[in-house]
Amino acid sequence: MTVSGSVKKALIVGGGIIGSSIAWHMATAGVKVTLLEARSAAAGASSNSFGWINATAAESADYFALRMQAITDYKQMLQRQPKDSEARRCTRFAGSLWWETQGSELTELGARLHNYGHCVREIGSDEFSKLEPNVANPPESCLYTELDGAAEGDTLTRFFLQQAASKGATVLLGASLNNLLTANGCVCGVQSSHGKYEADVVILATGAATQTIAESVGVNLPMENRRGLIVHTNPVPDVISQVINADDIHFRQAPDGHIVMGEIFSGGTFSAKPHDTPAGFSRELLRRLRKRLPGVENLRIERVQLGTRPVPLDGYPAVGMPASLPGLYVVTTHSGITLAPLLGRLVTEELVECRRSVLLSTYHPDRFM
Ligand SMILES: Cc1cc2nc3c(=O)[nH]c(=O)nc-3n(C[C@H](O)[C@H](O)[C@H](O)COP(=O)(O)OP(=O)(O)OC[C@H]3O[C@@H](n4cnc5c(N)ncnc54)[C@H](O)[C@@H]3O)c2cc1C
Repeated sequence: MTVSGSVKKALIVGGGIIGSSIAWHMATAGVKVTLLEARSAAAGASSNSFGWINATAAESADYFALRMQAITDYKQMLQRQPKDSEARRCTRFAGSLWWETQGSELTELGARLHNYGHCVREIGSDEFSKLEPNVANPPESCLYTELDGAAEGDTLTRFFLQQAASKGATVLLGASLNNLLTANGCVCGVQSSHGKYEADVVILATGAATQTIAESVGVNLPMENRRGLIVHTNPVPDVISQVINADDIHFRQAPDGHIVMGEIFSGGTFSAKPHDTPAGFSRELLRRLRKRLPGVENLRIERVQLGTRPVPLDGYPAVGMPASLPGLYVVTTHSGITLAPLLGRLVTEELVECRRSVLLSTYHPDRFM
C-alpha cells in the first residue's frame, strides 16, 4: 500500500545513514522534518560498517536492480557536491575484487550476476597483479568489477544530517523515542525523551531496534540482526585502491590511509564463533592482512569496532507503510551504506508525491504479516 496524501510534516526516528538520507531528501522536498536520534549521529551500524558500496551481493534480480540504481544515485549525488565536500572526500569508486570462493562456485556467481546485467568479469592472477601490485598471493581467479566503491558511513551520515539541517530540518541528538502515539487506528506522533511530537508520518529508521519498536504497536517485522567486527589499522601510504574480498578477509584502504578490514561476508558471523574475543579475532585479522600486504611495514591495530547489522528475516530491505497501521513507515535494511542515497529519494517520492517506485515492489514490510 502507499500513502493517501502528500506528507507535509514528518518525524524521522534514527540518525543513522538511512534516517539522515531520508531527512535530507524530505527537507529538500519542502517537508517540515524533525529527526530524533537517541545517541549521537551514526551511533549504530552506520559507524561500524565495512562501507562497501556494491551490486555484487545481490541474491535476486530484483535486489540487483535496486542496488544498481543505488550506485547510480550515489554517483549523481556526489557529482552535485563540491569537490572538497565531505561526501566526496569520504567516498571512492575504484572497483572491487572478490574471491570468497573458487572454482565452479565463483564461475556460477559470475554467470548469475552477468545474467542480471552486472558488468562483473572473471580475471586471472596476472590481471589481478596489474590492478593491485602490492597484494601478495593473487588468487587463480576472481570476480572484478569497476562499478563498486566504498564510503565512510559515519562521515557520510554527518554530511547528510548537515545537509538536512541546512534545508530546515530539526535534528535532535540525544532524543529517544519512548513510544509511538496512535489515534483512530493511525500513528500520529511520538512520545520522546524531549516531549511529544505530532506528524503526518513517523518514519522508523532505527536499524537493528526496528523490530522491537514495530512490535510495540502490533506490526510484525521479524529480524535476524547479526553482529560484525570491523578493525581499522594505523594510516599507511597508498597501497591498494579496490575493495578486496578474499577468501579469509575483506579489506580496503580508506581515503585517510587506514586499512579497514573484517571477516568475510559469507563466513558466518563473528558472534557465531564463541571462542573468538574481539581482541583475539582482530589479531587474527591483522595476521591475515600482513600476509596479503607483506610490503607494508608497521601495520598495527588502531580501532576495533563491534557493530550490529540490521537484517530483516529474509535478508532483504523492509521499506513501506504497514497496511495495518497508517501513519507509520518503516525502513530497515542491511547494506544501508549502499542503499541510503537511493532509499532517501524513493521514500520521499512515495510520501511526498504518493508514487511508490517499482524498485520497492518486493520490499514492502507487509510480506511478513
Ligand atoms: C560489521 C558491519 C559491516 C557492514 N558492511 C556493510 C557494507 O560493506 N556495505 C553496506 O552497504 N552495508 C554494510 N553494513 C550494513 C550497514 O552498515 C547498515 O545497513 C546501515 O548502517 C544501517 O543504517 P541505519 O541508519 O538503518 O541504522 P543505524 O546506523 O543502526 O541507525 C539507527 C539509529 O537509530 C537510533 N535509534 C534506535 N532506537 C532509537 C529510539 N528509540 N529513539 C531514537 N533513536 C533510536 C540508533 O541510536 C541509531 O543511531 C555493515 C554493517 C556492519 C555492522
